[in-house]
Amino acid sequence: VVFVDTGYHFAETIGTRDAADATLAIHVVNASPAMPVSEFEATHGKLYETNPDLCCALRKVIPLNEALAPYEAWASGIRRSETRTRVMSPVVGWDSARGKVRVSPLARWNDQQIDSYIARHSILVNPLLSDGYGSVGCWPCTRRTPQGADSRAGRWLGFTKTECGINE
Ligand code: SF4
Repeated sequence: VVFVDTGYHFAETIGTRDAADATLAIHVVNASPAMPVSEFEATHGKLYETNPDLCCALRKVIPLNEALAPYEAWASGIRRSETRTRVMSPVVGWDSARGKVRVSPLARWNDQQIDSYIARHSILVNPLLSDGYGSVGCWPCTRRTPQGADSRAGRWLGFTKTECGINE
């Protein structure tokens, strides 16, 4: 399981990663950007404020691409019900940007199905999901989900940006 470690995650997210790695039959691979945050900000400033697309490219997309390079297929947890930009997401599709098959086993699942599966199987989840965050990304770019909005509405609030580039 690849964890894209941007250096900007909430402590709760890091704790969830570590708990999953310790308790599940998985091997977590940390995909890190070339520069740690201190060097990155000394070079670029707070890129998440000035150019979040470039920040995501350098801290998410490139590290993930490097981690996926040896593989012919990868799996993503995206779901159609998360946001309007994902309503056409196929369960199995061709990721032309990477030249790989992409499998999205949860694509057709709605929120109720997710919640009942989590409850039925005692799945470990990020505690921020029960603290008003419908979707959790990096702390500078994630706010609690506004009332009545779709689950990803708290991401990049104030920008037109809706995706980080990993799933496009
Ligand atoms: S979500 Fe924000 S902080 Fe994280 S990589 Fe993208 S722009 Fe940077």
